Order: sequence, then structure tokens, then C-alpha cells
Amino acid sequence: MTGQSTGALEEFGMFIGGRSVGAASGRAFESQNPYTGTSWAQLADGGPADVDAAVASARAALDGEWGAMTGFERAAILRRCGDAIAANAERLARLEVNDSGKLLREMRGQLVGLPQWYYYFSGLADKIEGRTVPPVNPNYFGYTVREPVGVVGAITPWNSPLLLLTFKLAPALAAGCTMVVKPSEHAPASTVAFAEVLHEAGLPAGVLNVVTGWDRSTGEALAHHPGVDKIAFTGSTATGTAVAQAAVANVNRVTLELGGKSPQIVFPDADLDAAANGLVAGVFAATGQTCMAGSRLIVHADVHDALVEKVVARANAIRLGDPTEADTEMGPVANRPQYEKVLGYLRGAADEGAVFACGGEPDAERGGLFVKPTVVTNVTPESTIVREEVFGPVLAAYTFTDEDEALKLANDTPYGLAGAVWTKDVHRAHRVAGKLRAGTVWINAYRVIAPNMPFGGVGASGIGRENGVDAVHEYTENKSVFVELTGGTRDPFQLG
Ligand code: NAD
Repeated sequence: MTGQSTGALEEFGMFIGGRSVGAASGRAFESQNPYTGTSWAQLADGGPADVDAAVASARAALDGEWGAMTGFERAAILRRCGDAIAANAERLARLEVNDSGKLLREMRGQLVGLPQWYYYFSGLADKIEGRTVPPVNPNYFGYTVREPVGVVGAITPWNSPLLLLTFKLAPALAAGCTMVVKPSEHAPASTVAFAEVLHEAGLPAGVLNVVTGWDRSTGEALAHHPGVDKIAFTGSTATGTAVAQAAVANVNRVTLELGGKSPQIVFPDADLDAAANGLVAGVFAATGQTCMAGSRLIVHADVHDALVEKVVARANAIRLGDPTEADTEMGPVANRPQYEKVLGYLRGAADEGAVFACGGEPDAERGGLFVKPTVVTNVTPESTIVREEVFGPVLAAYTFTDEDEALKLANDTPYGLAGAVWTKDVHRAHRVAGKLRAGTVWINAYRVIAPNMPFGGVGASGIGRENGVDAVHEYTENKSVFVELTGGTRDPFQLG
């Protein structure tokens, strides 16, 4: 089994064709635990040759046993996958914590919830149906068939690797596709162990293959691969754009789940305690390292001071520390490049005249990669900290005076992943939700997801949707079949 400890470091091969294999080059790289600051695992350093092998294995599975299965058979396997994830949740959660420094309580929660995705999509696997189409020309009968897109190349980021893989994998398996996944070089271990768990649960060899690699050229090789039929990507907008260009060059389909700068609009009639709690959930949970982070607080001028005071009080009380401790509320930033990026944004905000209502600096007492929960005020809609995704525990607060202005400020961003509206006025809540330019809107809530609710963004936040019944169709092609009914001949020089 991969993930066995050999000496100081746990070793993880790649998972290709149902087996743990080393890199063709024989090279390996180490993964660091951001809390301890030490290497804890060694992974195969795969490259383009390994991507070739993985894509060939995925193609063989599609052409073989997996491709021949009925939706009912795939549904049964998906259910077994869900059971196996539940049985291995603790181990998988701990691998994610080691790699990313995210809280054990958060990752445990994610892993315990993950089987629901496989059960939900198992319920769709045996309901992928075409339509019969009434003829225009009575000599022909028409029907459509939903077929799997084929081999999917999935590329995932370091925050929540298994949840974000699952958004792709569960519908792809339901549709009958096979997959090669390239997890982030910063958090690769859990994906390898996960593939092995699913294989042991009955997912046939080659249906899910994992290629790990330190260099970003490994992901590039997958995005460009001519043997791949669709790319499903989660990550930054900059990388997503490059990945989409590679997919287009191969005339491949692509779904992109990218970054965000999501607004939380708070009206003066809102329950300010609930809003403060939602703001903490939106931007300090997971150390703010979530695509849907609610990083812009757009608050009515009348309640700005009262709300900021509440958020600051809660932020200052957040317990930073060991991600594996039960009472820790915020762990470190997940890796050094991300830590440097967050600090760069804080320095930039100060240079632009922002005021830190709390935080604004590393946690010197703890050292390591800890950044204090930060609330930034005295910013304008043009401030860099308001415009760019920080991907850290940083909330920028600014004000509005009427509903139109609130919406204008909220929608003044290239992103459109998520947003929230806090008000007790039911009319206003739905009116504002309708006008927010975002893939997901929460009313008096934040950071809630479900397997049956579509998730994705508009604008620079992405293309396509994950989750929900329609997600399966992101992994199917619609084939039209015409049947000649009369047995007669026709004028060959006329369009039928
Ligand atoms: P990233 O874009 O740097 O990397 C994502 C993945 O792409 C990694 O596996 C990486 O190795 C790979 N990659 C890098 N360059 C590549 C290339 N040229 N071709 C192919 N693959 C390449 O993102 P990250 O730093 O790992 O993650 C943080 C970003 O992800 C944030 O911007 C965040 O908003 C976004 N994100 C979005 C969602 C969502 O669902 N919308 C969820 C989580 C994270």
C-alpha cells in the first residue's frame, strides 16, 4: 500500500493502471508539512512520459471493462467507492492536514461528507438517457444518446485536493469517463492514497490514474495531451487561462473553476452577530485559502463601525495553532510561496493607505507560516486589496449607502464565483441575490456547498458548473441518430 512509512518519510508512488509505480525518470520529490516546517513525505516526480502512460491506461480502461459497463454497474461501484471513503476518512483527512496544514476538524468534516457525492452521482449513473425526437421528415425517426466524453484530464490545487477532485470525479464516473489527475505539487499525497482506496473498493484498473510531479510542466503535459478528451481544472485564473488555451488547441472541452473576490453585502437591518459569524466563516475558516472566500465586506455606512468591531473581536480571539488539535481554529498558510504572497498584499495595502483594524502581520509569537487574521479598512473600490484575490485570512471592508450602490460595488470585479447578502428583508434578499453576478449566492449564510447544488463561476471565476444533476452532462457528448423508416431510396443531391 502506498503511504507506508519507510524511515523518516512516507513514500507515495504514482497510481497508474491500478498499480503504484515510480516515475519513469526514477526521481522523487519531498512534500513539506507547513505546520512543522519539515518534509514528511516523498513522492514520485512524474513527467511527460508518466502522463503518457497514465493517459494510455485511462484509454485502455475506456475501451475495456469500464467502457462496457452499464450505468447500473457503474452506480454500484460508485456506491462502494462512497463506502470505502467513509471507512478511510480519518487516514485521508490526516494526509491532507500533513500536506496543507488545514485543520483536522475541517478536513475530517470534508472527508466524512465526501461519500455523499458518490452516492448522489451513483443515483444519476443509471439515469443517463437520450431522447426520442419527433420527425420533421416522416421518413426518419430520430433519437439521441448520451455518451461519455472519454478520457478526462483533471488538474487540482492544494486547498482541499480530494473535495475538488470529487467535484470532477463523481460525475465523470457516473457518465462512464476515465480520468488522469495531476494534483498540486504542494499537496499531492492524499490523491494517490485516494485512488488506491477507490481501486480496492472495486474501481477497475486504469479508470482513475494519478500522476504526481514537482515541476509544473507535468500539469502542462496533461493539459496539452492529444489523448485527453476533456480538461477539468481547478486553480488560479492565470493557470486556468493557460490550461484552457491548451485544451482549445486540441479542440477539447474544458471546465474551469478559478479564483474569486467574493462580496458579502451587509444591510443595516441584518442580524449583525450572524453576519459577523458569516464573515469569519467566509474569510478566516481554512485560513482564507478557499476560492469562495468572502474577502470583501461591503457594509452599510450606518453599521460599518459596529460590524467591524464585532468581526475584529472575533478575529482577535481566533485560536491559531497546531492544525491537528481539536480546539485550533486557524492553521498556517499552506506553503511558503503563498505565505510570501499574502504578506506582499498586506505590505501593499499599508503602502496604499489602508488601516489594519486587526492583524496585518505574521504571527511573530508562533513563527512558521502563520499570518494573523486581518481586517483592512480605509480602502476604496480601486485598492489592490479590494481588487485582487489574496487567498489568505484578509478581509477588506468598505461602505455603501443604498442598494444600487451596494450592487454596483459588489459586481465591480472581474470575478464572479460567490457572494452573500445579509438582511432580514425577504424582498431585498432575493432582489439582491438576483442581481449579484456570481455562480453561488448565500442569503444570511456563507460557505455552504452540497453535491446537488451547482458550483462554479462567471467572468474570471470560470467556465461550466460542478455538482448538481447537470454536472454529469459536462462529461457526456450528445449523439444524434437518424433512422430511415421506409427502406426506399432518395434524391442523393438533396439535403434530407
Ligand atoms: P495554481 O493555478 O497555481 O495550480 C493549480 C494546479 O495547476 C496545480 O496542480 C499546478 O501544478 C497546475 N499547473 C500549474 N501550471 C500549470 C500549467 N501551465 N499547465 C497545467 N497545469 C498547471 O493554483 P493553486 O495555487 O494550486 O491554487 C490556488 C488557486 O486555486 C486560487 O486562485 C483559488 O482561487 C483557486 N481555487 C479555485 C477553486 C474553485 O472551485 N473555483 C477552488 C479552489 C481553489
